Amino acid sequence: MNAYLNRVLDDVRTKHSNEPEFVQTVEEVLSSLEPVIDQHPEYEKVDLLGRMVEPERMYTFRVTWEDDNGNWHTNTGYRCQFNGAIGPYKGGLRFQKNVCPSIIKFLGFEQTFKNSLTGLPMGGGKGGSDFDPAGKSDAEIMRFCQAFMSALYRYIGPDVDVPAGDMGVGGREIGFLFGQYRRLKATFENGVLTGKGLSYGGSLIRPEATGYGAVYYLNEVLAHENDSIEGKTIACAGFGNVTWGICKKAAELGAKVVTLSGPDGYIYDPDGVVTEEKINYLLEMRSSGRNRVQDYADKFGVKFVAGEKPYGEKVDIVMPSAMQNDVHMEQAKQIAGNGTKYYIEVANMPTTNDALNFLREQPGMIVAPSKAVNAGGVATSGLEMSQNSERLSWTAEEVDAQLHKIMKNIHDMSAAAAEKYGLGYDLVAGANIAGFDKVAQAMMEQGAF
Ligand code: GLU
Repeated sequence: MNAYLNRVLDDVRTKHSNEPEFVQTVEEVLSSLEPVIDQHPEYEKVDLLGRMVEPERMYTFRVTWEDDNGNWHTNTGYRCQFNGAIGPYKGGLRFQKNVCPSIIKFLGFEQTFKNSLTGLPMGGGKGGSDFDPAGKSDAEIMRFCQAFMSALYRYIGPDVDVPAGDMGVGGREIGFLFGQYRRLKATFENGVLTGKGLSYGGSLIRPEATGYGAVYYLNEVLAHENDSIEGKTIACAGFGNVTWGICKKAAELGAKVVTLSGPDGYIYDPDGVVTEEKINYLLEMRSSGRNRVQDYADKFGVKFVAGEKPYGEKVDIVMPSAMQNDVHMEQAKQIAGNGTKYYIEVANMPTTNDALNFLREQPGMIVAPSKAVNAGGVATSGLEMSQNSERLSWTAEEVDAQLHKIMKNIHDMSAAAAEKYGLGYDLVAGANIAGFDKVAQAMMEQGAF
């Protein structure tokens, strides 16, 4: 590999040796950039890569809140403003027990490239807290969100940094967060958050967008292979908002999602999560706060496998849509052994780097990277920001048509970028290169920052 790239990677490995997720994503992205760096010796002079792997700034703050029994708790809040070269920082907030600087930074780094791929003017950011929403009452969630926003509000704004949801943060949390922002600022700046409710400036299709976008992207891959989605079986993981959107769109297009997973195991439904009742039940499982996928098996009388992941089931398409590092070498081997042709990442960094490289090397297998496949969520957040600044709402059809166009463009741009550097139909490298190009150009033109 190119000497400059190697030096930057070595520095990151040394400096962030206690941040494995962050190192992992930097290794993954930089390993695609060799042909670009070779063609742009000027990047080394200004240390462009060294700048790119260093967040512009990162806030850490205390969040103190009171539970329903009158006991007080203290959590850590984070907001990482990773790269603002092409627009206001943009990215979700994650509330989950394991949230730490490494996870926030890996997500912020990924977000920078993802947002660039959407073609919209959004920089990369991410935030969250090690708060565990499981089993909390609505009132506790509200008090936590208010305390979180009381610290965060001074760092964000519609033209500064625009948070949204991620794991543990959905419409309910965004509502509480926005309410507190409005109270503290005494202005109605609803462009400060996305994923809002429709009554105060949310966008139609935003809840569906990540899942729909993933299926639109998948359709472009299938078209490239002269194949079609009709009749295909899909293995999904998780049962959250993203998986819900995939089930819905896949069913509409004649395919079926046959697996879901949770912390307790996975379910296999040979008829597919295709009926309205089944698809809506995912929302019920989520809002119940039980965090158990077995409930689906109990309700619909299908197979439940405790403590296992769904990747051993034989399907046409695998779409890991649960969380980071869900697919290790063991699962990758199962997927390859089953002869699955399409491995379409959905969750942020769902595959370990060795597993991803293994899958990419499988003859005939097509691997698509999450930063491209799941970009429809943040892209639709970008559309929500446009509607807020225009002070009007687009119809569902208008938003959906834009989303569709953006996903096709991301696929085509990625394919073209790989082609340009003689890499063939390499969607992983292509997404990294295409995402990088725009941010790099903006940074070069803006001088030292
Ligand atoms: N958390 C989502 C992501 O990973 C959405 C972010 C947003 O809409 O700003 O891209």
